Amino acid sequence: MANFSRRDFLKIGGAALLGLAGTRFIPKQEEFFFEAPLLWHGSRSYKNIAITYDDCNSIVRFHKVEALLNEFPEFKVTFFPIGLNIPDFQNKDKGIWKRLIEKGHEIGYHTYEHVNIQVMSPVAAIMDFDRWQAALVDALEMDYPTRFVRPPYNILSPTLDILCQERGLVAAEFSIGGGGAPDVVLRAIQKTKGGDIVQMHIRTEDYESSKLAFPWLKENNWDLVTMSKLYDDYLREQVNADGCDVEAGNELTRTCVE
Ligand SMILES: [Zn+2]
Repeated sequence: MANFSRRDFLKIGGAALLGLAGTRFIPKQEEFFFEAPLLWHGSRSYKNIAITYDDCNSIVRFHKVEALLNEFPEFKVTFFPIGLNIPDFQNKDKGIWKRLIEKGHEIGYHTYEHVNIQVMSPVAAIMDFDRWQAALVDALEMDYPTRFVRPPYNILSPTLDILCQERGLVAAEFSIGGGGAPDVVLRAIQKTKGGDIVQMHIRTEDYESSKLAFPWLKENNWDLVTMSKLYDDYLREQVNADGCDVEAGNELTRTCVE
């Protein structure tokens, strides 16, 4: 388990305040306590973008998003459901999660009950992840290598850092907030430089944003990819890049200085 110094905790105070004040945008910091892999966006050199859907609270709206995705079979997305919704959806639509995996979509961790990971002890967070993972494996009826965590409220914390290191997870933040009016979200997506991570939820407005964005992405030859694809492309570029702030091991996955 990682060691935490008092200095680390002092630094965390600022991040915690930022997390409470405005969860949508957490600025990159020069000196940062987070040591686990952390992704704000992918490589700017690939013509791809990752759309993510958090919480997954309504199966009715979830089915609408799935139906929309079915119209674009080459497009893959990442869902970050809370654990409670995994058996709930499975009870209402048996095989739903396995079906999404078989269609090439990805599933990531978002805590079992939408609790701020910052207030959990490291042991509690690891237990929470294991509970969430067990629910997913149960629903899928097969093992599943979960790679990403989207922390509730997007709050980065020392506990999240430890959890990522203990369970080999990558913390997934985002570079485009998808929660606004659909035309505003579409314009933000249309300005993508490539490699952007878009955060949405399974809300009506996010469904409408997706309905506007998918045809535009397709017409303009953008790939809509899972977090894993975005991350793997990013790692490939980091290995070869000049001028990036990369070292060895975990550092390889840190955000490159642009
Ligand atoms: Zn959430």
